[in-house]
Amino acid sequence: MSASILVLGSINVDFFIRVDALPKPNETIIGHDTAVAMGGKGLNQAVAAAQAGVTTRMVGAVGDDNFGGMARDFLKKRGVDEASVVVLDGVGTGMANILVAPDGQNMIVVSSAANASLTPAHAEAAEALIASAGAMVVQLETPLDTLKTALEIATANGVKTVLNPAPVDNGVFDLLPLCEVVTPNETELAKLTGIDGQDDESLIRAMQTLRAHGAETVITTLGANGCAGLIDGELVRLPAFKVEAVDAVGAGDVFNGALAARLVLGDDYVSAMRYASAASAISVTRRSADAAPTAAEVDAFLRE
Ligand code: ADP
Repeated sequence: MSASILVLGSINVDFFIRVDALPKPNETIIGHDTAVAMGGKGLNQAVAAAQAGVTTRMVGAVGDDNFGGMARDFLKKRGVDEASVVVLDGVGTGMANILVAPDGQNMIVVSSAANASLTPAHAEAAEALIASAGAMVVQLETPLDTLKTALEIATANGVKTVLNPAPVDNGVFDLLPLCEVVTPNETELAKLTGIDGQDDESLIRAMQTLRAHGAETVITTLGANGCAGLIDGELVRLPAFKVEAVDAVGAGDVFNGALAARLVLGDDYVSAMRYASAASAISVTRRSADAAPTAAEVDAFLRE
């Protein structure tokens, strides 16, 4: 397997403002500190894979505004090859506006913008890149028909396919036969299968439902309860590493990028899950959105 990752997915710029209380309709309020962070599940997972030390390329779309340039610069700085991120004329870069109140309550508006204009033709144009990757990682923040085309190219070329079914969308069932690994979190697993997964028996049943739809291996993240895999039909549970969590947003993205990176480096599923658990545990101890640890940081953490 080629030790490289191709992430096809979303790129957003996230604007945060801390507020005392969320505004009501027609109300203007004065907020406190602001932060601008690069985001989108695709970008986050690509950065996590690159930080894990694997050659990582990204296929995605930004608009011809300043934010598209910022996102591409950010990817480059974090070691992701962004040459195949297309810049679309007359479209904005994907954007999230996020207000956060002191009790953690938030109000978020996301505009997919350029992400919604990533077409099957863009996936076809990336055929050679997809075919030369060890694994391709996708999520559901770009159009389903584009994902289907990309997954078809990957499977036709023997490239390992990892699908993170987030945000949850029932259109995913059409994609599962093209997926080697599917990685819902526990909420997504429950929504997709109608099974709560609260004990081993129902977790196995829920994961088997996704297998019955065509996914070969199912790995579910369970927040502070760790992760679980249905590997060769057997349940494997790994507890989470005990850490002082300060911000769990994006933990799943770090988990997915790190998992895929370790799989192309030759880890078996359980070893890759352990690495991904460590990488995501480190990420929840960091307040910044740019939280994916390097391989050296994960190795040091695992030696502690
Ligand atoms: P998502 O971000 O998609 O909701 P999860 O919340 O399931 O994903 O978290 C992904 C992974 O991050 C978990 O499987 C776990 O390994 C790690 N993680 C999340 N929260 C914690 C925590 N409080 N302590 C340690 N690890 C955590």
